[in-house]
Amino acid sequence: MTKFKRILLKLSGESLMGNQGYGIDVTRLGEYATQIKEVAAMGVQIGIVIGGGNIFRGLTGAGKGFDRVKGDQMGMMATVINSLALSSALEAAGVPTKVLTAIRMEPVGEFYTKWKAIEAMESGRVVIMAAGTGSPYFTTDTGSSLRGIEIEADVMLKGTRVDGIYTADPEKDPTATKFNEISYDEVISRGLKVMDITATAMCRENNLPIYVFNMDVVGNLKKVISGEDIGTYVHP
Ligand code: UDP
Repeated sequence: MTKFKRILLKLSGESLMGNQGYGIDVTRLGEYATQIKEVAAMGVQIGIVIGGGNIFRGLTGAGKGFDRVKGDQMGMMATVINSLALSSALEAAGVPTKVLTAIRMEPVGEFYTKWKAIEAMESGRVVIMAAGTGSPYFTTDTGSSLRGIEIEADVMLKGTRVDGIYTADPEKDPTATKFNEISYDEVISRGLKVMDITATAMCRENNLPIYVFNMDVVGNLKKVISGEDIGTYVHP
């Protein structure tokens, strides 16, 4: 038995660089593919949105003098690179995938529609939705909230490098304590930096629960799907 039938898995681009300072760590990429393969074999329908922070972020670019819109477009292209890398790693592991892009760029991937995504998931493919929302001034967190709502996922699983939401950043404050569950309103009112406000508000308004967990520990994704309580549940 699995806890969820259809998931939207958000992976961070930054985690994909592993211990390197930039780009794609093939070991981490392989570990992600292994974990995703495990839950695909359990019959879970999987949609994935991956960030691009390991390659380029629009806001950082703007700070260095890039035009913000072009910088954000570069960031969205970075998510396409990561999506292709993940697709390639999954296919090599024997998992069929489909890459859909929010910006038209055949033959790199097909132009995204909700129905293409659902059809591919129902036929057993892992769907990777690249290029965020397709618009500047958004993040891939917002992209994954949007796609999660559109594809009617049961939950958005936000894979991070910490094991949930804390009262403060546990990497900086040793007295920080972890929430097992928390409401969307409290995430926003406490200013917790788990997702940006736009993404959290979208989930709240459309009743998409979020589960935050540590994706960098191999086996954790399967635990979450099996109903083990290893992260933080964000609910209405
Ligand atoms: N981005 C964008 N619109 C979107 C999604 C992403 O403009 O809908 C750009 C934005 O510049 C962002 C970059 O893509 O900085 C990479 O995405 P993100 O920072 O969310 O990746 P992560 O931090 O998860 O690696």
